[in-house]
Amino acid sequence: MADKPLPIVPYLQIPDEGDPYLEGLKCSSCGAITLRRRMACASCGGRDTLQPQRLSNRGTLHVFSITHRSFPGIEVPFISAIADLDGGGSIKTNLIGIDPDPEKIQMGMPVEVVYEIAPRKDGEGNEYMTFYLRPAS
Ligand SMILES: [Zn+2]
Repeated sequence: MADKPLPIVPYLQIPDEGDPYLEGLKCSSCGAITLRRRMACASCGGRDTLQPQRLSNRGTLHVFSITHRSFPGIEVPFISAIADLDGGGSIKTNLIGIDPDPEKIQMGMPVEVVYEIAPRKDGEGNEYMTFYLRPAS
């Protein structure tokens, strides 16, 4: 069992000191940012052009959907959202800190990334660090 939380996705970085952050890969040739580890840039096909890039914790809401039914043990309703981060990169996660009411949620609204320990541990007792979106304060 790990002595500190494990990242829930490979692009979540947890430094020994300082705050967690998301790290994408930025293409030095065309500027595209991806979150997936890959061999070549998906936009321009460049090889050996992808460099680690710390992503912004702020962005805008691109799209969302409200889920009312899910697996047993998953609290509903929750809001699944995709945000475009300032400076590049898009992430998909839950939007928290706002009522799951389509009247209150607006496309393009400013959001920020927050990091929390996931509510569940895995079978070996490991804790995971996860991230959510919430309306920017
Ligand atoms: Zn490229």
